[in-house]
Amino acid sequence: MLDRTEIRSHITHLECSLSAEECGHDMPHRLNPKNGKPYLVRYDLAKAAETLTKESMSRREPNMWRYREVMPVIDPANIVTLGEGFTPLREATRLGSRLGMNSLLIKDEGVNPTGSFKARGLSAAVSKALELKQIKLTMPSAGNAAGAMSAYAAAAGMEAHVYMPKDAPIANQIECTAYGAELNLVDGFITDAGRISGEAAEKYGYFDVSTLKEPYRVEGKKTMGYEIVEQLGFEVPDVVIYPTGGGTGIVGIWKALDEMEQLGWIGSERPRMICVQASGCSPLVDAYKKGEEFAEPFKNPSTLAAGMRVPSAVGDFLVIRAVRESAGTALTVTDDQMVASVQEMAEFEGIFPAPEGGATLSALQLLLESGEIAKDERVVLLNTGSALKYLDVLGPALGL
Ligand SMILES: *Cc1c(COP(=O)(O)O)cnc(C)c1O
Repeated sequence: MLDRTEIRSHITHLECSLSAEECGHDMPHRLNPKNGKPYLVRYDLAKAAETLTKESMSRREPNMWRYREVMPVIDPANIVTLGEGFTPLREATRLGSRLGMNSLLIKDEGVNPTGSFKARGLSAAVSKALELKQIKLTMPSAGNAAGAMSAYAAAAGMEAHVYMPKDAPIANQIECTAYGAELNLVDGFITDAGRISGEAAEKYGYFDVSTLKEPYRVEGKKTMGYEIVEQLGFEVPDVVIYPTGGGTGIVGIWKALDEMEQLGWIGSERPRMICVQASGCSPLVDAYKKGEEFAEPFKNPSTLAAGMRVPSAVGDFLVIRAVRESAGTALTVTDDQMVASVQEMAEFEGIFPAPEGGATLSALQLLLESGEIAKDERVVLLNTGSALKYLDVLGPALGL
């Protein structure tokens, strides 16, 4: 194992994702106040490349902090980790042969702490908040993000305040309470919870870690991109299928690919990025299909996949750009299709995916039928969470 002191963060600054305007990383920042768009974190990648080499990877810790040079935390003492990341990229041979494919892979994020890949984003955001001395955190969330924030805040001894629509999954309500967070149930939608969380942040000096509204959650989620490439022996797959809510993961994976090219890990090749949303909440797919760059808020969102129940996303244009630049596509699947896919993935692979993970398999089937994905392509499905957090909705949907 490498000594943690040999390697360090090469963070240099933040850059507005729309205007490219720059600002420092030594103070807490949220959206660019001039245009309301997210900042992205930038690094000195030439310096990072000196130690972040392909050869060094086999000696590093098996969690997402193995990519320390391109992570935002400067003092290792501030890293709050529960062992998130470096999840298995499994060859799905039974499911693959059922679909007539010879290279289908599932990145299984359900094995992360707190049962979803939200652990990555919140490990990064909570660590950086600690470094910036922001120790009272708040978040509006309809699900897994709140659970992850609460867990990492607990591990660090920080305060967590959660604002949840009162129809949020019971598992998320219970876990936040268990982690000692203050759980506020809101009579309304996630947008109402967001407004109230924002007001509480103002009033009590909490730091709001809503996705993409602070720059560091993306940095945690981008490590999925690094891992996929590393686990494929530093090769890029043909297609990545991603269940999209706010889009932090797709934005992060796309950013990681650019960084890896500058690090000399890969060339200019890119996977086609496929954005899947639920037919009951598809603002990004609708905008993509209309040829728009920004999305209209989706009215009356409804899907059992709580992670994809995001009616408006501040990073809309970043998701849509990644899809277009990669020659990918965006499509919807129904809740019924997701549930059938949950069962199929469980039965044929032993992976019991969140409905969001099921959505990637439903999308794959549709794209194989339409010929947009060929059977001999190497395809990665992102199973973003564990079904065990959705038993209250999956039980009835599976007839129990
Ligand atoms: C939050 C969430 C998503 C959506 O993630 P984004 O990166 O915000 O688009 C997908 N699946 C699960 C299980 C989630 O919790």
